[in-house]
Formats: sequence, C-alpha cells, structure tokens
Amino acid sequence: MSEQPHADTPNAPSPPDVADASNPLLMMVVDDDRLTCLTLRRSLANEDREVVTAPDGEEAWKIIRERHPRLIITDWEMPRLDGPGLVARIRDSDLPSYTYVILLTARSESDDIVDGLDCGADDYLTKPFNPQELRARVGIGERILRLEDHLLDTQAALRELATTDMLTGLLNRRAITERALAELERCERAGSSLSVALVDVDHFKRVNDTHGHMVGDRVLRAVADALTSNVRPYDHVGRWGGEEFLLVLPEVDGDAGTALADRVRARLAATDMGLGPGSVTVSMGVASTAPGQHSDLDALLSRADQALYAAKDAGRNRVHLFDEARDAA
Ligand code: GH3
Ligand code: MG
Ligand code: MG
Ligand code: MG
Repeated sequence: MSEQPHADTPNAPSPPDVADASNPLLMMVVDDDRLTCLTLRRSLANEDREVVTAPDGEEAWKIIRERHPRLIITDWEMPRLDGPGLVARIRDSDLPSYTYVILLTARSESDDIVDGLDCGADDYLTKPFNPQELRARVGIGERILRLEDHLLDTQAALRELATTDMLTGLLNRRAITERALAELERCERAGSSLSVALVDVDHFKRVNDTHGHMVGDRVLRAVADALTSNVRPYDHVGRWGGEEFLLVLPEVDGDAGTALADRVRARLAATDMGLGPGSVTVSMGVASTAPGQHSDLDALLSRADQALYAAKDAGRNRVHLFDEARDAA
C-alpha cells in the first residue's frame, strides 16, 4: 500500500460560490489507498461533479480550507489524521456551508458504525462497497446539499427584500437606520464625527399633480440615483419615506458634511430628470456629532429635521446645518 501523498488537486482558485447551483459540485475522496481513490473518482466524476483526492486527513484538511469540497468520502484508518479526526475537525470549523461526509470503513460492527456517526459523519459505507450503493448514497448527500443551497438563496433573497426599498432600490428606512446606528458607534470609537443629512424633494406634490404619480415615481428613482452617484463610496443613502431620503456621512464634521451635502444638492439640481434641468431640487438639513462623543440617533435626526425646516423656510434648494440658536424648537 502506498503511503506517498498523491493529492492531485491543482492549485485551486478561491472557493466557488456555494449557493450557485451552476457550479459543478466539488467532492473529495480521502483514502491512503491510491487505487481506492482512483476507482472512486472514476466512478463518481461527471459533468456536474468534480472529484479531487487526498491520501490522508491532513492533506484533505488543506484542500478543505482552500477549496471547500461540499461532499467528502473518507476512509477511516489513515496515517497522520484518520477519518473520524478529519470529521471532528470539519465540524469544529466554520466553513461557509455544510460539508456532507460519508465514512468508508472496513469495520462493520455496529459499535464502530455508531462511533463513526457519533463523530459527525452523515453516512457510512462498509468496504468492500457496492458501486451502485455508493452512487445512491452520494445522491442522497447531493440532494441535502442542494436543499441547503436553496435555503441559503432564499435567506439571502429575504434579507435583500427586508432591507431594500422597492421603488428606488435604496436601503429602506429600517436598513438605513441600522447603518446610521453602526456608523454612530464606529465614529464614536474612532474619535471622529458623523454627519447625517435629511433630504426632501422640493414641491414634489406639484410633480405628482402636474405629471401624474408614475412620473413622480420616476423622479424619485432619478433622485435616488443622483444621490447615490454623488456621495462618497463609504457614505450610505436610504429612503426615509415618501419623497425624503437620508444620507449618512461618516468621518465628517458639520462644516465638511454641509459642503458635501451642498455639492450633492447642486449636482442633483443640474441633473435632468426628464422634466428639464433645474426643475427638480432638494432641500437638506444636516446635523453632526462632536468628535468621539456619544450621541443618540433620534436626537441627531431631530436636529437634522429642524435644519431641514429652516432650509425650506429660507427658500428651498439649499442645505442648512443645524444651528442651536436658530433651529432648536
Ligand atoms: P415641500 O417642498 O414643502 O417638501 O413640498 P412637497 O410638495 O414636496 O411636500 P408635501 O409633503 O406636501 O408632498 C409630498 C408628496 O410626495 C405627497 C405624496 O403624495 C408624494 N409622495 C410620497 N411618496 C410617494 C411615492 O412613492 N410616489 C409618488 N409618486 N409620490 C409620493
Ligand atoms: Mg486506510
Ligand atoms: Mg416631505
Ligand atoms: Mg417635499
């Protein structure tokens, strides 16, 4: 029996997207008997499955970390790290998705089988095995993995739905609030300021009244795009509700936040949203935290709201920074 490593895995790229059913399923056969590896690989590999092999648990573990095979058929007794040891290591790790393991063993006593399953294997086969039975059991593993992929896809889709505003594709109110809270904490820890800007489309009711709700919706989408494309990559934009939006601007104090907001306002006013340039404008109210100081999000938003009112009062299409003396109710 050869004890020479015979891992035949080519230098692998990063792990495939596990939830992508269009990727062939990566399997691994782990056995210190080279012939078993080759036989299994030949009988299992097809256009939907790529099969790699490893001569012992340690080599297998390297491949698992690099490529994360989803289904593993492993021998029990092997040098360096045996099958149960490998399974225990897999179960202790936080791989990106479930690894289905079939333990292959010459032992057939029921105590051995119980031990094998107890260590975390999903299934077992005794040697010598019937190739048809092996294929059937691999099929069961594949079905379970596909179910898991489907579940992960569904979870991701639900997460997306729960955080996205349907009309504009921006973060919805709940999601932008979460971002704002996280940034508030982060800026406080970093000893920097956070600014927020409440954005309100000017005389938006007139757009609806003059051109209809459909055009109004299109304008809201265009405003969302204009906001997104004119902030910095690490700023956050969300739909606050109706024709109001919230910008979360980390690492800027009131003056810099106001300058940034005013640049966004000016670019937006210069953008033709289908009603002629200059016909859609926004007003903004900006409020900021003092560097490194703890601030309450509700209080910060309330200051931004008061500044927004001041901007509306002053004639619209402008940005006002919250001013305690002027704006405080
Ligand atoms: P101001 O400059 O004072 O903000 O005036 P305004 O007309 O923008 O403010 P007002 O609050 O009177 O009107 C907001 C309008 O926005 C009323 C509402 O019907 C409209 N609106 C809110 N959500 C949507 C939406 O999803 N689609 C469309 N088309 N209109 C919306
Ligand atoms: Mg062996
Ligand atoms: Mg409004
Ligand atoms: Mg408005």
